[in-house]
Amino acid sequence: MKHNLLIFFCITAAALSSIIFWETDYLWLVLAGIALLFIGVTAYGSAQIQVNYFVKSINKGGRVKAIALTFDDGPDPDSTPRILDTLLENDLKATFFVIGKKAVNHPELLRRIVDEGHTIANHSYSHHYLIALFSTQKLRTDIQRCNEAIRDITGRVPVFFRPPFGVTNPRYVTVLKDLQMQSIGWSLRSMDTRAKNKYQLIQKIISKLKPKDIVLLHDHLSLTADTLPDIIGHCRQMGIKIEPLPRLIGKEPYENH
Ligand SMILES: [Zn+2]
Repeated sequence: MKHNLLIFFCITAAALSSIIFWETDYLWLVLAGIALLFIGVTAYGSAQIQVNYFVKSINKGGRVKAIALTFDDGPDPDSTPRILDTLLENDLKATFFVIGKKAVNHPELLRRIVDEGHTIANHSYSHHYLIALFSTQKLRTDIQRCNEAIRDITGRVPVFFRPPFGVTNPRYVTVLKDLQMQSIGWSLRSMDTRAKNKYQLIQKIISKLKPKDIVLLHDHLSLTADTLPDIIGHCRQMGIKIEPLPRLIGKEPYENH
C-alpha cells in the first residue's frame, strides 16, 4: 500500500530532522511541514480513486479499444428507464452501480437491467455521506447488505464495487478482500452532477474522451437521461466503440460464473 510508504517516509524524515535541527528554532517548523505533507498526501490519496493510494481499483480498460459506460446512484424510477430505453435502441450494454436501499424499492428496475443484458454492480447499501468514516465491521455489513439485496432480486452476486464518492481508506482494503470484490473507479468523470445543461455535459465528455475510458455517469439525473442519445451519437461520430465494462476490463461481474 502506498500509504505505508508515506508513513515510513514521514517517520524517517521526522527522526532525521529532529537530529539535524535539534538545537535550532526551526525544528517545530520542519516537523509541522512533515505533518502537513502527511495530511495532504493522505487526503489526496483518499479522494482520488485513480491514484490507487489505498485500494487498487480498475480505472480504465485493458486491450479492447473501446469505452464503457457506467451509471452510479440508481435505480431511479424516472431516469433509469429512459436510460435503458436509449441503450436498447442503440443495442448497447452498460454497468449500473446501484445503491442497495434504492434497489429494494425498485426491484422491477433491477430485473429489467439484468434482463436487457446490462451489468449490476454494488455501490453500497446506504451511500451514507459519512461512509468513509464507518468502522470495518459497519462497512462490511453495508456492502454485504447491498450484495444480498441484489442477489434476492436478480439471483446474482456482484463482484464489482465502486466506493461512494470515490473515497477510499484502509478499511475498504480489508472488506473488499474479505468479500472477494473488485473496486472499480473511472478514467473520465462526466461531472453530470454539476453540469447545467446538455451542451456543457456533452462538451465535458467529448473533449476528453479516449479509447479505454471508463466513463462515470449518474442514472438518477434527468439531464444524463436527456443527454445520453447525444453522447452515444458523438461517440459514433468519433469512431469510438462502446463495450460492456466486463469485456473492457476482462473480468467476470458476478460470483460463481
Ligand atoms: Zn455515488
